[in-house]
Amino acid sequence: EKAGEPLLRIRGLGVQFGGFHALTDVDFDAREGEVHFLIGPNGAGKTTLVDIITGLTKPTTGSVSFDGQQLVGHKEHRIVHFGVGRTFQAATVFEALTVGENLDLAASYRLGLRRLLRQPRGHADAVVEALEVTGLADEVDKSAGALAHGQKQWLEIGMLLAQGPRLLLLDEPVAGMSPDERTRTGELIRYLARGRTVLVVEHDMDFMRRFADRVTVLHEGRILRADATVAEVQADPTVQEVYIGR
Ligand code: ADP
Repeated sequence: EKAGEPLLRIRGLGVQFGGFHALTDVDFDAREGEVHFLIGPNGAGKTTLVDIITGLTKPTTGSVSFDGQQLVGHKEHRIVHFGVGRTFQAATVFEALTVGENLDLAASYRLGLRRLLRQPRGHADAVVEALEVTGLADEVDKSAGALAHGQKQWLEIGMLLAQGPRLLLLDEPVAGMSPDERTRTGELIRYLARGRTVLVVEHDMDFMRRFADRVTVLHEGRILRADATVAEVQADPTVQEVYIGR
């Protein structure tokens, strides 16, 4: 079921690297309150699309509007301030800092360092929430480098949450996770989507089936299936064909 108005609206997006068309004519919408999966074989252009949304790559053509604000042409840090945050494939946490310190730092993007330092009880509300929902409350004083692989991924998601974004882009959030960890990550993603939009780049089809509201399929830089339900994607013969042999 469609959740609300599009928070993210991408039109006519194209990018070339040298003469190579990495993305062509991409139209894409994601609404508030939804978990939107972006799938497609290796080289389909998924990472490139996320890089464009977050300002890492400049498109050759097209527009990316987020909550009415045009993102194309803005630098990465501006886009974070507009309320767009992402995680990377390999968890990027400060290993020498504690879990709590990592989250405090992430929250300082939103609060500003001065206000963060004036917080009476140590942690900002967003940090307390992040500790709670990631299940890391008992690890708050542990160094991030000592966390298990899955916990590091959750810490990175927690850091994203502490920044206060309305659009969260997660790049392969369950890579290398056990079945139990996948389930917990899926539940965390469902939580994140309340009042926000979560865009998930993921190869794991079973995970998509369990946790996606909407699915968009990219293939060779073009949209193969836009804004579909899981059932529609599973019944689509073209999508099946693209995934044969995987
Ligand atoms: P996916 O994330 O779906 O696996 P990518 O977005 O990483 O796909 O890549 C899409 C295509 O664009 C690939 O063929 C890749 O080699 C190419 N590509 C991505 N970034 C660059 C770049 N900076 N320069 C040249 N080619 C690139």
